[in-house]
Amino acid sequence: MEPWNATWRTRALPELAARDWDLLVIGGGICGAGILREAARRGWRCLLLEQRDFAWGTSSRSSKMVHGGLRYVAKGQLGLTRDSVRERQRLLGEAPGLVEPLSFVMPHYRGGFPGPKVFGGLLSLYDALAGKRNHLFYPLQQLRYLAPGIREDGLLGGTRFFDAVTDDARLVQRVLGEARAEGGEALNGMRVVELLREAGRVVGVLAEDIEPRQPAPGPIACASRALVASARCAAATCCCRAGACRWRMPSALCTRPMGARYSSSPGRARR
Ligand SMILES: Cc1cc2nc3c(=O)[nH]c(=O)nc-3n(C[C@H](O)[C@H](O)[C@H](O)COP(=O)(O)OP(=O)(O)OC[C@H]3O[C@@H](n4cnc5c(N)ncnc54)[C@H](O)[C@@H]3O)c2cc1C
Repeated sequence: MEPWNATWRTRALPELAARDWDLLVIGGGICGAGILREAARRGWRCLLLEQRDFAWGTSSRSSKMVHGGLRYVAKGQLGLTRDSVRERQRLLGEAPGLVEPLSFVMPHYRGGFPGPKVFGGLLSLYDALAGKRNHLFYPLQQLRYLAPGIREDGLLGGTRFFDAVTDDARLVQRVLGEARAEGGEALNGMRVVELLREAGRVVGVLAEDIEPRQPAPGPIACASRALVASARCAAATCCCRAGACRWRMPSALCTRPMGARYSSSPGRARR
């Protein structure tokens, strides 16, 4: 694979813009990267356009947690929790060193809620959904070693449980790298400014090179059979301004960082 750098970008840009794509993805955050990777794996000819740098948006500003969502269990949203904890386990297995276990300790004070039994029950369910036992109650004598300096008045002990943590921006880069290895392409510094239409159908986008090395001739047209706006706010605004709100992909596509479902096939697979 060619080096993925500024020289490559300058040289590749006209050629990539001239291609006919199966899928254009607007936005190079984790959702866009994940969608690009999944599309590339399915043999789609796909290009991602990011207006600034990859992971510039919320995907480099999160709290870096890869969590199953204990609060979903508490709310009874078991399906959502199951999906989340399984995704967490999959990421831990697929990206060791980039996605790492992170432990938490919940102290239990006399009369406080949730007590060790309720919390242990909640975590047993959480772990069962993940298919892995991952929590333990520590009585006070042991908890002192695990959490030195903790306030001890009324302290009964604490429960240790695990979720995971990552470097969110590096995770985006990793997924984009995997997408490129599968044949997907991604360009940064390309802001989508308009949707292109033919006979009322969207057939591509106009994008501005915001970092032109030579004087830019103006916005560049990219043709595509399908488009995903994974840029939550700005691109959605851009699409709406262009009057294409009903044509945007369902937001459900954009809420799962690593996976994407496609509602239609481009009908042209490369392999
Ligand atoms: C404070 C905070 C903490 C969070 N903590 C966690 C956490 O611990 N764990 C977790 O899993 N999730 C967390 N999240 C949620 C998570 O960060 C987001 O769900 C995720 O980053 C969304 O990714 P995205 O790709 O949809 O959006 P973004 O990462 O925002 O990507 C959208 C991209 O689209 C680009 N774009 C916009 N308009 C255009 C255009 N016209 N042309 C081209 N490109 C365009 C933007 O530049 C941007 O890079 C947190 C979110 C916040 C706000």
